[in-house]
Amino acid sequence: MIRWEHREDGIVVLTLDDPVQGTNTMNARYTAAMLSTMERLESERASITGVVVTSAKDGFLAGADLKDLTFAVSATHNGEAAGTEAVAAGAFRVVEEMKGLLRRLERLGKPVVAALNGTALGGGLELALACHHRIAVDRPDVRFGLPEVTLGLLPGAGGTVRVTRMLGVQDALMNVLLQGQRMRPTQAKQAGLVDDLVATRDDLLPRAIEWIKANPGAATQPWDRSGYKMPGGRPKDPSLAMMLPAFPANLRKQLKGAHYPAPHAIMCAAVEGAAVDIDTALRIESRWFASLVGTPVQRNMTQAFFFDLGHLNRGGSRPADIEKSVATRVGVVGAGMMGAGIAYACARVGLDVVLVDVSMEAAERGRTYSRKLLDKAVARGHSTADKRNAHLARITPANNLAALAGCDVVIEAVFEDLALKRETFATVATIVGPDVLLASNTSSLPISSIAEAVPDPTGFVGLHFFSPVDKMPLVEIVRGRRTGDVALARGYDLVRQIDKTPIVVNDSRGFFTSRVFGTYVMEGIALLGEGVPAASVEQAALQAGYPVGPLAVTDEVTLTLGRRVRIEARKAGIEMPIHPGEVVLDRMIDEFGRGGKSSGKGFYDYPGDGSAKRLWPGLADAFGSVAPPRIDIHEMKERMLFAEALESVRCLDEGVLTGTADANIGSIFGIGFPAWTGGVLQFVETYPGGVAGFVARARELAARYGTRFTPPASLVARAEATSSPRSR
Ligand code: NAD
Repeated sequence: MIRWEHREDGIVVLTLDDPVQGTNTMNARYTAAMLSTMERLESERASITGVVVTSAKDGFLAGADLKDLTFAVSATHNGEAAGTEAVAAGAFRVVEEMKGLLRRLERLGKPVVAALNGTALGGGLELALACHHRIAVDRPDVRFGLPEVTLGLLPGAGGTVRVTRMLGVQDALMNVLLQGQRMRPTQAKQAGLVDDLVATRDDLLPRAIEWIKANPGAATQPWDRSGYKMPGGRPKDPSLAMMLPAFPANLRKQLKGAHYPAPHAIMCAAVEGAAVDIDTALRIESRWFASLVGTPVQRNMTQAFFFDLGHLNRGGSRPADIEKSVATRVGVVGAGMMGAGIAYACARVGLDVVLVDVSMEAAERGRTYSRKLLDKAVARGHSTADKRNAHLARITPANNLAALAGCDVVIEAVFEDLALKRETFATVATIVGPDVLLASNTSSLPISSIAEAVPDPTGFVGLHFFSPVDKMPLVEIVRGRRTGDVALARGYDLVRQIDKTPIVVNDSRGFFTSRVFGTYVMEGIALLGEGVPAASVEQAALQAGYPVGPLAVTDEVTLTLGRRVRIEARKAGIEMPIHPGEVVLDRMIDEFGRGGKSSGKGFYDYPGDGSAKRLWPGLADAFGSVAPPRIDIHEMKERMLFAEALESVRCLDEGVLTGTADANIGSIFGIGFPAWTGGVLQFVETYPGGVAGFVARARELAARYGTRFTPPASLVARAEATSSPRSR
């Protein structure tokens, strides 16, 4: 696992190379090898002049093997963690052991250099932080950071403590720990996590050796030297002390009151650790780490952001046995908000893009969208003028579909109009060859109906991007009735090529994401209709962990959109019971003439003079009641969460969804379902009392608010199976 090479100049090169797996992780093999390596380093210390730690794999070292972490949480029943104390004690022991070895490494008394040949996230970076100097290869695919917070955890192998001592409490929390940024090498250097960059892997070892020879005395960490001063001061120093009270307040503001224990624990570990000596700080960090392991939020977030996300990105929903495809030239039809964003995303990874609209002016406007984003990146130092120019040069604007000849893929993003889309594709099919992948970015029209316009619907797929495309990490791939596996696999490969996460769903109105999202929005609007003050509705959603309240988000997409989709659906013969929110929408549009943000007035007023939007005061008169209903905020939150979770179960029952990972990641990445839940279906599984508890609660809500909360039969059957005495 750790190869040992003792060179003639006394430098020991340690090369991490897991014999079983393709990547190095902090698994049991690693810990055992690290222990014997440490013992050998200490016993041969006299003949050693320095140490270089590197890896033989593409990456340096990934973090803890999270499958191992489940050791601590395997004994669970019905969504409740069992034996919390035993779990915490186990987690504490594991990280204490790991960090004990790292502490011995940094106190070996010889200069130790991390030669980072590839990505080092989480535990991998923590090993590097325990070295005295870090040199990294500057490759575009390489990332450094401590993303534990995104998994509901904290960096428990000394990362919290060392970053705090390197950067100071404030910078450590803001720039590294609380958001878990994954940085490119140049960003990591700017942030102070990496000391030096080299152009290629081959340059690493010579540079590391050079550094050791030039710095024979650099065998201690700054915090182990006398006179060490923590950047920005310690908590007792006035410079930091006066800022401390704002920290938890800012965190609460960022989280909007939603339930995320990890950032809180990280903040505590960083501040408390900064007040004491390093060894005590490391122990405090272990205790905070142990407090998180096995908690419902940690399990949910680890499941979603590690297991589910990994499953999807590794091809979990891609048809197997189809050769991987690589696109080189992509056509985008429609250079509006979505088309312009799709063109940007494709050109970003080096694809040539033909961007077609009805006029050159409109197509150019689409390219200008990229120019603006790139100018901003250059101004912020995230990119260079050369890179911007190359990116823009890959986008060719055009005003004629004939320009699409020679593309491997054509993605359509014209107006949401079935006839227009069909007409567009009928023409496109006469221009491009039969082997070109045809894709529509429609957000609600049936893919199967659009596909009928082309001679070969097996080569047609839905690629549903989210707005703004440059920021949103998800693409919902929609399989039409006749979409073939090859087209699906090619759609999948393209999505991965542009660095986004694909979920795969079957065709249906609104597919999975738009359909489920609609239930959230409508539930919030229904609450308003019941007389709940609008501010309370929005607040309940934010406290539940939604990024935007249902009224604000409805204003963004317009109040008329949802109504149009429902009218169309009913016209198409789809049975849809009247939702109580519909009455509110009708009155807002027809009686008060409030269509949403684009028309300057919706649930909010948009003053247009630069001042902030505010809830329309008329809402209280229109929908309020003299005695507002006494609905507990917890119940309001659960109504929104349950509405989406139940609709997702229906999507699963109807075969719109075929995988739980698609549902969980799709809901968090695409439509803002709160991340602490682990996603819509994980929410059902880990609801207190498990599936049975969820069903019981859904029945209560159904009795109070209507049949939309009635749990589907499939769920009831599962609840009965899990709560029967035999299965206990
Ligand atoms: P938009 O109005 O901003 O842009 C549409 C563009 O298509 C316009 O520039 C228009 O000139 C162009 N166009 C119209 N007819 C054309 C034709 N025959 N040939 C070439 N170009 C033509 O709309 P948008 O918001 O970018 O939405 C585009 C599609 O993406 C719609 O189907 C929409 O439902 C879907 N979508 C939108 C969002 C969103 O949040 N806006 C999200 C996902 C999907």
